[in-house]
Amino acid sequence: MDAHNLSQRLLTVASFVEEGARLADIGSDHAYLPAYLALNGKLSYAVAGEVVKGPYENAQHVIRKEGLENQVVARLADGLAAITEADEIDTITICGMGGPLIVDILSRDPSKLARHPRLILQPNVGESSVRQWLCQNNYHLENEVILSEDKHTYEILVANYQSGPQMVLTAQELKYGPYLMTEKNSAFVAKWQAKITKLQKVQAQLQKAKEVPTIKMAALTSEIEEIEAMLYG
Ligand code: SAM
Repeated sequence: MDAHNLSQRLLTVASFVEEGARLADIGSDHAYLPAYLALNGKLSYAVAGEVVKGPYENAQHVIRKEGLENQVVARLADGLAAITEADEIDTITICGMGGPLIVDILSRDPSKLARHPRLILQPNVGESSVRQWLCQNNYHLENEVILSEDKHTYEILVANYQSGPQMVLTAQELKYGPYLMTEKNSAFVAKWQAKITKLQKVQAQLQKAKEVPTIKMAALTSEIEEIEAMLYG
C-alpha cells in the first residue's frame, strides 16, 4: 500500500469523504489516506494526526515525497489535540483502532467537535461502543459498510451530526449495525457465522468439564440462537 494505491478498506473510507473536505485523519501512520485524497483532488486541506513519533515521521516523509506540503500537514499529537479551530475541519476519519479508543478520542475534548464534523470511523473491534457514542452525541448513521480483506473483517461507520432527537438504536442494532443487519452481505454473514463457530467450540470445551457449568452453557446457547435468528430468522 502507498499513497497511490490504498487498501480496499481505506479506499472505502476515502469514498465517503466529500469533495473539497477539510479532513483530520487521526492515527495517520503514513498519511496514506489524506495523501491519496489530496493526490486525487478531493481535499481542500488535511491534518494527519499521529501520537507516536515514528509513524508521525513516516507521515511527514510521505507528504514531502508526494509534494503535498501545501495541502496536508502532519502533527504529532494525541487524538483531536492535532486540530485547532483555525483548521476549520469538517470531516474526521479515525481508522484501524479499537472502538473504545475511538470513543475515548472523540470524548476527550468536546470543543474539538464544535463544528460537528462528518465522522468516518473504522473500529477494528468494539463497534457497538462506537454506535453507542454516536447515539449519545447527536450523530446519525448515514451508512455502514462491512468488508473482508486479507482474512480480516472491517466495519466502516459514516455519521453526520443532527440537532434534535438523538438516533435510537435497539440492542441488536448496536451490536450488528442497523444497515449491516439489513443488507446481510457475504462479509457480514461470514463474520457472524465465525462467531457462532467460536461459541460452539467454547461449548464443546465446557462440555468436557467434570461439572458442566450449566448457566454458562445456557448463556452461550442463547447467544448462538440470537445470532442465528438475526442471520436466518
Ligand atoms: N489509520 C491508519 C489505517 O487505518 O491504516 C493507521 C492505523 S494504525 C493500526 C493506528 C495508528 O493510530 C497508529 O499509528 C497509532 O500510533 C495511532 N494512534 C493510536 N492512538 C492514537 C491517538 N490517541 N492519537 C493519535 N494517533 C493514535
